[in-house]
Amino acid sequence: MSFSKQLKQKLRSGLSILRRDKPAVLGFLFHGLFEDAGEIASAQVDAQQGITVEHMRRFIEHFLQAGYRFISPEQDEPGLAEDGRYACITFDDGYANNLRMLPLLEEYGIPATFYITTGNVEQQECFWWDVVFRERVRRGVEKAEISREQKMLKKRHHLDIITYLQQQFGDNCLQPWSDTDRPMTVAELQDFAAHPLVHIGNHTRNHYLLDRYSDTEVLEQIQLAQNDLMEWTGRTPVSIAYPNGNYSHAVAEAAKDCGLKTGLTLQKSKNHLPLAGNFAMGRFTLWGNQNIDTQCNIFRSDIPL
Ligand SMILES: [Zn+2]
Repeated sequence: MSFSKQLKQKLRSGLSILRRDKPAVLGFLFHGLFEDAGEIASAQVDAQQGITVEHMRRFIEHFLQAGYRFISPEQDEPGLAEDGRYACITFDDGYANNLRMLPLLEEYGIPATFYITTGNVEQQECFWWDVVFRERVRRGVEKAEISREQKMLKKRHHLDIITYLQQQFGDNCLQPWSDTDRPMTVAELQDFAAHPLVHIGNHTRNHYLLDRYSDTEVLEQIQLAQNDLMEWTGRTPVSIAYPNGNYSHAVAEAAKDCGLKTGLTLQKSKNHLPLAGNFAMGRFTLWGNQNIDTQCNIFRSDIPL
């Protein structure tokens, strides 16, 4: 991060003391949960925010100390007060490394919600962006170049992306290398979902960026994931995290038609109760390579940018 950006962050963090913590629900988005910096450096996956267990612990403690209560969009809690301060920990995709969250949830007695791409879980296939990342890293390609390739692929149909990967890296390129890159298995998900602090939500069947597909494909992607999760966990999710945060009015309508009550985006905004009926819930993103408390102060701030 540049010096001027760091300075701006420090300033916003300090200023937040003047006006912050108005009653709200703050959503937070995570992907992988890494053991340590060494696991991130192994470059088996695109670590994205690069959050380790230690970062997560600091983040949780910050919000608990600030008087926030952790809740889940999957929790039906009529007892929540409109003037309360709440935070939602959400993980997208369904990485097996998310299972590391359980000891923390138990230690702090807080819930978290895991949004699952059910096709990857069932097929035990890696996520396509990780395949691009690790294959290019091992060919010595620069990170900026890899990121350009990922962005270019995001514009394509999912089936074309898979064909592209197989042409570039071989038919077996989606196979996991280790516990770092693989999605959880159906059996792991079943055990995990049975824990009272673990909540499971919909992240579509194959991670389609929903606003770019036909109405039929959108309905199919959402409904197939609902069916899979019902079959595996015995519960039908009431919330969906739109892959890549992409949504539209039509996507929200399709989600409603599939029985969903809440849609989670990547908009950096606070939310208000009730979450049911909100199909554009905002979520903040925490980065492992920046000071955790500084970022948390900024998330809590009610001073406009
Ligand atoms: Zn995702």
